[in-house]
Amino acid sequence: MALKEFNVKNAYCKSVWEDVKVRYADQEHFLQAAGLVLETLSPVVDTMPELEKTAVLERFLEPERIIMFRVPWTDDQGKPRVNRGFRVQFNSALGPYKGGLRFSPEVNLDVLKFLGFEQVLKNSLTTLPMGGGKGGADFDPHGKSDAEVMRFCQSFITELYRHIGADTDVPAGDKGVGGREVAYMFGQYKRITNQFTGVLTGKGLDFGGSLIRTEATGYGLIYFAQCMLKAAGTDFKGKTAIISGDGNVAEYACEKINEFGGKVLTLSDSTGYILDEDGIDAEKLAFVKQFRSERKKIDTYLTKYPKAKFFKGEKPWGVKADCAFPCATQDEIFMEDAKKLVANGVKLVAEGANMPTRADAIEFLQKNDVLFAPGKAANAGGVAVSGLEMSQNSERLSWTREEVDEKLKRIMTNIHDNAYATAKKYAPSKTVDYVSGANIYGFLKVARAMAAQGLV
Ligand code: GLU
Repeated sequence: MALKEFNVKNAYCKSVWEDVKVRYADQEHFLQAAGLVLETLSPVVDTMPELEKTAVLERFLEPERIIMFRVPWTDDQGKPRVNRGFRVQFNSALGPYKGGLRFSPEVNLDVLKFLGFEQVLKNSLTTLPMGGGKGGADFDPHGKSDAEVMRFCQSFITELYRHIGADTDVPAGDKGVGGREVAYMFGQYKRITNQFTGVLTGKGLDFGGSLIRTEATGYGLIYFAQCMLKAAGTDFKGKTAIISGDGNVAEYACEKINEFGGKVLTLSDSTGYILDEDGIDAEKLAFVKQFRSERKKIDTYLTKYPKAKFFKGEKPWGVKADCAFPCATQDEIFMEDAKKLVANGVKLVAEGANMPTRADAIEFLQKNDVLFAPGKAANAGGVAVSGLEMSQNSERLSWTREEVDEKLKRIMTNIHDNAYATAKKYAPSKTVDYVSGANIYGFLKVARAMAAQGLV
């Protein structure tokens, strides 16, 4: 995939960018994430010469530690299998490393480095005391039995346990890692260490999990979008939305949009998308949740709602709507998709997934006055409630649904307001530049902490 030419203006940012570009020429996703951040940091780095003196940017772009290991396990036929496991401990300036584990065939160091790098800024934006990290394995849980998934998770943790801990590094779920996988990993960690601690988040409610954690990313995304709409003088009432994905993020985003008076037209998975012009209401969404839990594909929707349409192998970005929420994975919206979104009247794009929009497509959307929210701000609700789960574990208390939801709402509103004000200050433009606002606000706290803690 072609890398966008980033316009990195500040001389220090530029020299670090040129160096990173050569050193990690084979890590295209990491470079895209880093390039976009360096492009937007220039106005603030201009005012902080002390950053260069303490090599803050060089350190900021280099993970503190990367752990790579083999994960041997046995399948149900008794055949030995071997996968590759990773944990990228990117930055601990603000707190223990924090971020999900992804089990998916596409996992490699490039993908995990971009996710870890984004996580550092995302976690900073939440204002909770969390550093950033990401990990996972090139293991595909689809089509595996529960027993195979359990043996894989146990083997994965048998190596990773020595590198993580409630005050060191607290993994959670991500694509391919849900409640089942977190529970298996937690069980194995407890067994090896003989300690019941908050070492993972996204745990089951019976053993230290937090209410609202499952819903948090999707709810948070829509709370954030609601703030964007409010700042633009409008709201969700009567608005149409297209959503990609059919996982937790997509489903709970759909639920919240319905609650706020909007209408969701699409959901998708790797096989294609469904379009329901009447809207995917609560009853229809319950059906999606049910067939998804049976691991059935998205076209199952038509068995109950035959008026809907299924578009095989296609993405929903050509559907006319007011708002778009990419909630599947990275690389969903390319330039040709961005053009379709603009042509179809989409006025707001907020990322539920991590980096689903390519950098050139972001630029095109912003130039065409589409309000664009990057994932590190808009999808921070998931890790924010993970942070709240860590607090509850430390206190050995659990908060009510209302308490957690209220805190989530407050955190998302703060992220919005901070990104908005920072954008106005450093990157004033007609359409609010939430990309610059989020990058700069997230970076400043990490940079100050890194500078204060010395050359480590
Ligand atoms: N994987 C989620 C994310 O991308 C959540 C991470 C966490 O809860 O630690 O932010």
